Amino acid sequence: MRVESNIRACRNEVRAVRAAGATVGLVPTMGALHDGHVALMRRARERTRYVAVTIFVNPTQFAPGEDFGKYPRNLDADLEVCRAAEVDLVFTPNVAAMYGSGTQTLVHVAALTEGLCGPFRPGHFDGVATVVAKLFHILPADVAFFGEKDYQQLAVIRRMVTDLNISVEIVACPTVREHDGLAMSSRNAYLSPAERRQAGSLSAALFAAVNRVAEGQRGTAEITRGIREAIVAAGPCRIDYIEVVDAQTLARLAAVDRPARICLAVHIGSCRLLDNVAVDAATAGR
Ligand code: AMP
Repeated sequence: MRVESNIRACRNEVRAVRAAGATVGLVPTMGALHDGHVALMRRARERTRYVAVTIFVNPTQFAPGEDFGKYPRNLDADLEVCRAAEVDLVFTPNVAAMYGSGTQTLVHVAALTEGLCGPFRPGHFDGVATVVAKLFHILPADVAFFGEKDYQQLAVIRRMVTDLNISVEIVACPTVREHDGLAMSSRNAYLSPAERRQAGSLSAALFAAVNRVAEGQRGTAEITRGIREAIVAAGPCRIDYIEVVDAQTLARLAAVDRPARICLAVHIGSCRLLDNVAVDAATAGR
């Protein structure tokens, strides 16, 4: 496994691999790797001959006052995880290498970033889209792997790739969860033991809502009220949003009458937790 922080060296390596006829898979991450990341690497390992992982805590996707400074970083442990997953290349640039003296260019995906996390994290998706576009240029892969855990991010990246004619296939990977259903996240490390127990209420509330849709519930006001009540009953928290949106456009829905996604963002302690599940009236009850 090669570990490389130099942009030109990485680009040359990936170009050479592709010129030799091998397919390249890319897994962008911010490190503090867990089994959710590993699932993406495994998927890449199955699909592509050569697997590149990036580890970069991207400052431009943190809004002012967010946790950029204290975001968990542990490169040695992360490299072990990558080695065990038989990754070929780990790209670990520093901020200066990625942004030099700053950047004047931003990739802005419009409508998809207006709802859900958009208003709560100003500039976040511009930072994400921009850094992912940069990574696609630095490591020109055939296929890139992203988690459904960050559903809005996935939609934004798909749209960016379409709109900018970037030649990479985007593969979505299902959310990997802890035993109690909590979606794995590097930020879960911020939770105290009591908060960690409480955090299980988010996925439990979402799964209960999926069951209610399967039993025939369709109105999204009712659906989100049920989720909100279950989460609030579990302990102190601050809810940014609980919404049912069109699975493609992320437009808010009044009823589950098409493939949809229930998405939420909830603060427990100092941790902002995201989760989402699929619901679809057409397949409900099967
Ligand atoms: P991050 O390091 O949090 O920026 O995430 C890097 C990639 O891993 C993104 O595509 C995430 O959606 C994905 N990811 C993070 N957590 C999970 C999870 N629990 N299950 C599946 N994918 C995940």
